[in-house]
Amino acid sequence: MKIGVYVCHCGGNISEIVDVEKVAKYVDNQDDVVFAKHYSHMCSEDGQQMIINDVKEHNLDRVLVSACSPLFHGETFKNVAKQAGLNPYLIEMVNIREQCAWVHYDDLEKATEKATNLTEMGIDRIRNNNPLEEIKMDIGKSVLVIGAGIAGIQAALDLGDAGYQVHLVEKDASIGGKMAQLSRTFPTNDCAACILSPKMADVTTNKNITLHTYSEITKVDGNLGNFKVSLTHHPAFVDSESCVSCGLCAEACPVSVDDEFEWKISKRKAIYIPMDFAVPNRYLIDVENCLNQKARRKSGKTNVCRLCEKVCPQNCIDFENKPEYLELDIDAIIVTTGHDVFDAGRKPEYGYGKYENVLIAPEMERIIVKKSEGAEVRDIGKKIAFIQCVGSRDEQIGNEYCSRVCCMYATKLSQLIMHSAQVAGADKDIYVFYTDMRTFGKGYEEYYKSTQKMGVKFIRGRPSEIFKNPGSEKVNLRVEDTLNRQIIESEFDTVVLSVGLELSAGSKKIADILKIPKSTDGFLQEAHPKFRPVDTQKDGIFIAGTAQGPKDIPDSVAQASATAARVMRLLNQGSITMDPRKAFVHPELCDGCGECVSSCPYDTISMNADNIAVVDQNRCKGCGMCLSSCHSDALDLNMFTNFQLFSEVKAALKDKRESDKRIIVFADSICTYKLSDSVGNAKNKYSVDTRIIRVPSSSRVTPKLILQSFALGADAVFLGDCEKKSTPFLGSIDAVEKNIKLVKKNLEIVGISPDRVEFFQFVTVMLTKFPMLLNKMETIAKNKGTIPHEKRIKISNSLQEWLFPKNKEI
Ligand code: SF4
Ligand code: SF4
Repeated sequence: MKIGVYVCHCGGNISEIVDVEKVAKYVDNQDDVVFAKHYSHMCSEDGQQMIINDVKEHNLDRVLVSACSPLFHGETFKNVAKQAGLNPYLIEMVNIREQCAWVHYDDLEKATEKATNLTEMGIDRIRNNNPLEEIKMDIGKSVLVIGAGIAGIQAALDLGDAGYQVHLVEKDASIGGKMAQLSRTFPTNDCAACILSPKMADVTTNKNITLHTYSEITKVDGNLGNFKVSLTHHPAFVDSESCVSCGLCAEACPVSVDDEFEWKISKRKAIYIPMDFAVPNRYLIDVENCLNQKARRKSGKTNVCRLCEKVCPQNCIDFENKPEYLELDIDAIIVTTGHDVFDAGRKPEYGYGKYENVLIAPEMERIIVKKSEGAEVRDIGKKIAFIQCVGSRDEQIGNEYCSRVCCMYATKLSQLIMHSAQVAGADKDIYVFYTDMRTFGKGYEEYYKSTQKMGVKFIRGRPSEIFKNPGSEKVNLRVEDTLNRQIIESEFDTVVLSVGLELSAGSKKIADILKIPKSTDGFLQEAHPKFRPVDTQKDGIFIAGTAQGPKDIPDSVAQASATAARVMRLLNQGSITMDPRKAFVHPELCDGCGECVSSCPYDTISMNADNIAVVDQNRCKGCGMCLSSCHSDALDLNMFTNFQLFSEVKAALKDKRESDKRIIVFADSICTYKLSDSVGNAKNKYSVDTRIIRVPSSSRVTPKLILQSFALGADAVFLGDCEKKSTPFLGSIDAVEKNIKLVKKNLEIVGISPDRVEFFQFVTVMLTKFPMLLNKMETIAKNKGTIPHEKRIKISNSLQEWLFPKNKEI
């Protein structure tokens, strides 16, 4: 075997802390290492070419780059391997920047020692790498778009126009989303319905788009190129093919309820059409309020009311309508499930729900629309106040983010009110109380200035409370004008709360079904905020619109088109290359016990005709969870084999002195390893005695490996993974917790404190929690003292019997 090792200076990022020359010199003497070089920038063109030349010239069959995070440059060096004619799985990276130089900058000597040891670990690991062939899988052009607001409509149209087969799913009875409820759109004041409805109509005429309204996704299995989606069409009780939307049914219906589309400022019937320009333009029965449906639920009677049925000239009402269940084969998914507005009742000081002249901004929008249509709506009076940042930039209620659209939304509403008053020759006195005016978009600042010119007064100050004087119809508002340092207390006819945006309940449900993570602000998390802003952590799933974060219509549309482009780029290839990091079986070790078959949550393992376990490579997700079930080490995982991880742990403890404590950290690739990179970026220090070993999921870390770590000399073992709700691997967190419990129990048997093993579920922003927990492990290891040699031997001798007690009977 011929291994070439390259230690990178990273332009001083590493070499100012770590003595890279010393590291290279030390590892140069390791078995199988042909040479170890150090160089200023291994990722530069020169650095890459150096590897390519060396591989060819020295016939290297393994390359180790000791530099930055493999999450950062792993792909770069895989390409270098390919160019050098080396299998890309025979090149590996060791992270001496984020995990060493950037977190141990106050102890150069120890940082160099650790960098040397990390590089040794890499050598011991790569020695056992095998060449792997990437698995190719054909993919089709079928795309699921979940949510048919403006973002979903745009993505569906882009894809449909490009010849992709789109299933556009909407939970409501009509497409259009929140934009359909707007009167006009800033900063051009064009009519929202006028620009939206043609796009809605295009969806129905596009032959490549199948629309599923009033439908819900209930289950999604599989991966990119191979998603299996379960869908339920809710019954509308009206045959959409024959309904001509004459409206006779609604006239006959005796039930009147609040209209949710109108933000409850007007009423609708129990049989209704969601809005004038609904797509599909058909009536439906609201099961909650229909007298017939209520009677069916309550007493089983089927003959109650049925007035709509009697008057329908098309005979299209069917009270027996049942849900339909569909299964779809999908290649890629776009999530555009949108937002809900902040519940103003969570700010009781503003009196929403208590005083009827306190409204939220969307209610004011519908009042403006209805009024322009000549409908009878409540009088908003002459003096109106808008309060900004209700439910945004508010630490107390947990929404620290800016909702981005509320400043412009309030500006638009005040401009529309002003404009209609001016047309009618009436007088309005409008105040907008803001924290900061954020008018960031194209034409926004000009729009804001023109609103000021119309006479709207913008005051910097956040009102503390709204109250009513006894006997007064009006509400009082007290606020400090922070620019003029004046306290304002004044009566208003109407106060409008500019409520912020939050992830919608529907988006939360979809996130759970798809197992895509949310960021700390509660919105869906993109894979990278700058370079992969519409991708998620899960291959083949993309996000756009306000489900990803607060944004206006132009940004939602741009992002939706971006997801369509990403999907096209992916599916247009006709096939995808799958990561070969999958479970496999060493047939010579398998004794046919079958224990592993039920251990895989994806039903991937079966027994063949010779009673040997086999893993379906197409279905295996590579989590490694099944490995803990095999008593004979017959099950293994490519690139993270039992022997590789054992060798890595062994190398991690190689340089440990009597006085040292050493903490082995198994970090899952998706959350914890990524977090450790961010911790490095933030230069948040932690114990130099830690050695982080990357695994696909912490469920890959078998109880045996943890106990072996102690047997080999570890003083503490720490496992990190994603939160249960965001890990892409089914059942993995429960499996880790079970494994940890088992390990703790067995440590106690030999008199080792179970506190020496811990597991934590991270989100990738826990930049202080991660160092804190590693330091805590170091403290535990120090406080508990040295583990006697005989206890380590006892673990080593007993672990097979502890973990697989039935083994004797096999
Ligand atoms: S658990 Fe191990 S030995 Fe038993 S069938 Fe599965 S692979 Fe074979
Ligand atoms: S448990 Fe994970 S690694 Fe094992 S076969 Fe199933 S998906 Fe693959």
